[in-house]
Order: sequence, then C-alpha cells, then structure tokens
Amino acid sequence: MQGMRIPRESPAGWLIEAPAKLNVYLDVLPRRPDGFHGIRTLLCPVRLSDTLCLRPDNALRGEVRLTIRSHHRSIDASQVPTDDRNLVTRALRGVWAARRLEAGCHVTIEKRIPSQAGLGGGSSDAAAAIVAANHLWDLRLTPEEALSVAAAVGSDVPGQLSGTANLCEGRGEQVTPAPIPAGVPCVIAKPAAGLSTAEVFSRCTPGEADGGSVTKLLAALRHGRWQKLPSLVSNQLQAAAMELCDELRMLAAAFHQFPFVAHQMTGSGAAYFGVCRSHQQALQAVAWLRARQAAWAVATCTA
Ligand code: ATP
Repeated sequence: MQGMRIPRESPAGWLIEAPAKLNVYLDVLPRRPDGFHGIRTLLCPVRLSDTLCLRPDNALRGEVRLTIRSHHRSIDASQVPTDDRNLVTRALRGVWAARRLEAGCHVTIEKRIPSQAGLGGGSSDAAAAIVAANHLWDLRLTPEEALSVAAAVGSDVPGQLSGTANLCEGRGEQVTPAPIPAGVPCVIAKPAAGLSTAEVFSRCTPGEADGGSVTKLLAALRHGRWQKLPSLVSNQLQAAAMELCDELRMLAAAFHQFPFVAHQMTGSGAAYFGVCRSHQQALQAVAWLRARQAAWAVATCTA
C-alpha cells in the first residue's frame, strides 16, 4: 500500500478523508458465472469528502462503534446504518480477519457525500477505513491483500483505495491507475430522489463493448483534448436510471441547457455531473441548477 494517503493524528482520533468519485466512463458487460455483471469504469475522485475519525480500542474485541454525523441539510445522517450493514464496519472486520487480529475501534463519520447518488460515499468510507487500519495497527498489508479485503466489501471499494483516478475492470477488483489531471473544475448535482444500484442494474441491457472507447477517452484526458470529451464520456446505466426517475430526466435537461464541456450521470445515479471551463463557470452552474431541478449541487474539482 505504498504511496497511499495516511491518516493524520488529531486530539479526537486519527482523521482520514474519503473522497466521492465520478464515473467518467462506465460500461456494463454481460453477467459472469458468479452472478455479477462485469464492468469497465473510469473512477475519478473529487474534492468532496466524508471524514472518518478512528479511535482504536482493542478492548472492544472485534466491535466497531459507529457514530454518523452531518452538518448538511440535504444529508440525513440517520439514514446511514451504524450496524454491520455499514461498509466501514465490514472493511475493518475484513482487515482484522486478514491478520487474525482481535481489535476494536470507535469511528465517527462526518458525511458530506449524499447516499444513493452513485458518488460511492459508502465505498469510499470503507476504502479509507482499510487504509487507516493498515496504518493504525501497523499491518503492512501488501497491495494485493488490501485489494482482496476491499473487493470482499464491495465492487466499488478496490478502485477507491488509492484516492487517485483508476480504470476498474472485472467486478471492479482489477485496478489500473489512470492519468486524470487534478484541479479540473466540475459541478455535481442531485435531484431529491435517490436510486437503488440493484434496481438500475436490473434494468440495464449489458453491451459487448471492447474497451476501445475508454482507451480513446484516456488518451484525450492525457493530452488535454477537452473538445473530444462530449463524444467519449459515457455511462451505460444512464438510460435505465432515467427510466426510473423523472426528476433525473429533468435535471439532465437542465444540464443540457448549460455550456458544460461534457456532462453525464455518475455510477447508478441519481447524481449527475458537468465538467466546466473554469471554477467561476462551475459556481454559475451551481446557481443555474439549484434554480431548476437540483435538490443538492456543489462546485468542486477533480482531486
Ligand atoms: P454506490 O457505491 O452503489 O454507488 P451510492 O454512492 O449511491 O452507492 P452510498 O453512500 O454508498 O451511495 O450508500 C448506498 C447505501 O449503502 C446507503 O443507502 C446505506 O444504506 C449503505 N451504507 C453502508 N455504509 C455506508 C456508509 N459508510 N455511508 C453511507 N451509506 C452506507
């Protein structure tokens, strides 16, 4: 796990950021023998993060005591599970099991990433917990061990371990670093409704895409050919999500009317993002979207 972010010490405990991700590209491939769809996706972290605060307490003997907080009106912390369904609990237990460790931890999560948005908030929290646990208990996990614990927690977790942009294939566990420049301004917005990942996948017709398009997108990003982005960004779950959510269709219409460099839905929705020419344009876009279908909108940039 060399080169990964490390948690920083504070009077309250060890702090680590868990950034939201955007799917700049997402192919859904046919179902595999294990029942999961194959995917090919380009994940890009952005400067919008949950913060985890961890206080190791081995006397808890395998238990994770979670507190969820949010100071944001649009995020309902009471909707995030604090029991074994929380991906952070599963991630910490997975790490401890990998090293046959009987440990315990108090974790407070300050939520800023909306749920059911396709922004990977829960998965990013889990990835951050794996990175933090590796450091706090000095476990020296190899990259392969960390990826294997992450993959057992969820398909989006391996691609979020590094906190950098990655191309993820297979079920999400085959991770290749992708060169997406940091600091590219963008806007993310979400309608009031959320979408269930399982429901969106069940309505999607998988393609047989060969990966040629994502290679072209990666080349355009590497060489800064922004004018090519509109024809290269793609999300194969978008049509299915639009069928399920009228508000998302209306939000997408508002994005179409604004001069973004490129725009599309992220993950299984219901958040939608636009790439902007400047931070100033991103701020204008937030106001534009809030006055239309967006229940939540932020100006941010790639991390
Ligand atoms: P996906 O990873 O499928 O794109 P998402 O970005 O749409 O998910 P998440 O924030 O990951 O949304 O939450 C999806 C569900 O996962 C929530 O409704 C919640 O019940 C559960 N969940 C588990 N752990 C967490 C967590 N740490 N933070 C938020 N939700 C969590």
